[in-house]
Amino acid sequence: MLENYESLAASCPIVEDLRWETELVWINPEKKPWAEGAKEINLTLADIDDAEVRLARFAPFLMAAFPETLPAGGVIESALTPVPTLGKRLGEKYGSRLEGRLLLKQDSHLAIAGSVKARGGIYEVLKHTEDLALEHGLLSGVEDDYTKLATPEARAFFSQYTVQVGSTGNLGLSIGIMSAAVGFQVIVHMSADAKQWKKDLLRQHGVTVMEYSSDYSEAVKQGRASSDANPKSYFVDDENSKNLFLGYAVAAKRLVGQLKNLDVTVDEAHPLFVYIPCGVGGAPGGIAFGLKQMFGDSVHVFFVEPTQAPCMLLGMATGLQNGIAVQNIGLTGLTHADGLAVGRPSGFVGKVMGPILSGEFTLRDEKLYDYMRDLLETEDIFIEPSACAAIQGPVMLNRFPESRAYLERNGLVERLPQATHILWATGGSLVPENIREEYVNTHL
Ligand SMILES: *Cc1c(COP(=O)(O)O)cnc(C)c1O
Repeated sequence: MLENYESLAASCPIVEDLRWETELVWINPEKKPWAEGAKEINLTLADIDDAEVRLARFAPFLMAAFPETLPAGGVIESALTPVPTLGKRLGEKYGSRLEGRLLLKQDSHLAIAGSVKARGGIYEVLKHTEDLALEHGLLSGVEDDYTKLATPEARAFFSQYTVQVGSTGNLGLSIGIMSAAVGFQVIVHMSADAKQWKKDLLRQHGVTVMEYSSDYSEAVKQGRASSDANPKSYFVDDENSKNLFLGYAVAAKRLVGQLKNLDVTVDEAHPLFVYIPCGVGGAPGGIAFGLKQMFGDSVHVFFVEPTQAPCMLLGMATGLQNGIAVQNIGLTGLTHADGLAVGRPSGFVGKVMGPILSGEFTLRDEKLYDYMRDLLETEDIFIEPSACAAIQGPVMLNRFPESRAYLERNGLVERLPQATHILWATGGSLVPENIREEYVNTHL
């Protein structure tokens, strides 16, 4: 516990509710109209465009290295699908009173890494690959043929270099699988929360997995130290990386066309609500930033965190950002949501989210499994426990007085029948069958 806990809780009362694991919604008091908020952020749409174009340059390489990406032309993208039967269930079982359309963004089924990390993680590895290839003449320029990077000669070149990352599991999978495919040596530093099957899968890809009995922040620290000691090693810094962030942001640009294909309008009269599970903040933060660039004030982004690890909420609400960890207020940081088991948020993301984020929901672990079964039973779609956190958003939006007040204050109540809600399903397709079975039978 913090020594000055009492004074912190006195100046920021929500801290006390977080401490006692109360499920809640926090409405962000710093949120600004997008026209103003955008000026406070020193990343722009041009940065997202740059990331999108870089990914397009790598499409031929991805098709060569991962034939599963052939049907989509080397573009790693997930489906956006209506889940009306789930919506009905949420109304009947939890009294969600949700109006409008409910959609599922299936990053759980992204090619190669089976999670949202296939966006940021893979993008960052490709960016590093391109930087090295241009610097050392493997590519003559960005117009060159990127399938050259999939040749044995290129692999031999990249094998002199190492990529390292600290992870609770999914980032390690994404960075590990992609780095190994390029030919890099890879070391993934896994926190205690990481699931055994994720470590096993990485080892099958030839990745070195270092295991720690400590939490995510410690795994990151060890990874950084190990990387810093090797001049040919590159460290993927999940807590501060702009590359990761921009890789995630590209999702929003692609969502525009997907919404059009479903005949979904997003404008002032047709608000869009998006609910994204949050760990350190990079993935939901990057996506939220992209969504704001695309839809401005018409989109309302909420993060969802476990009651034992609400690190982003704690950092933003207290204003202390990465200067505070959930352990400082007496929480353990331990949760069944392994992908969200982060005690200290990204300070970089917390600052960027200040003018953007609408708010955050928290949920208790037992809900993860209930929501998992709800989705499976109604839509026959499996997503992992961490990803199920998203469902807390539409279930509770109308039920917490604070989020209800947010709707009223922003003139949204009468627009709810024309609203669209997106659950961002952040992971699940790589979960082995026996572990799925175990999850489906878990009742906390
Ligand atoms: C990593 C992850 C998140 C959250 O991403 P952060 O960048 O850590 O905030 C959410 N869901 C799943 C399944 C994840 O693996």
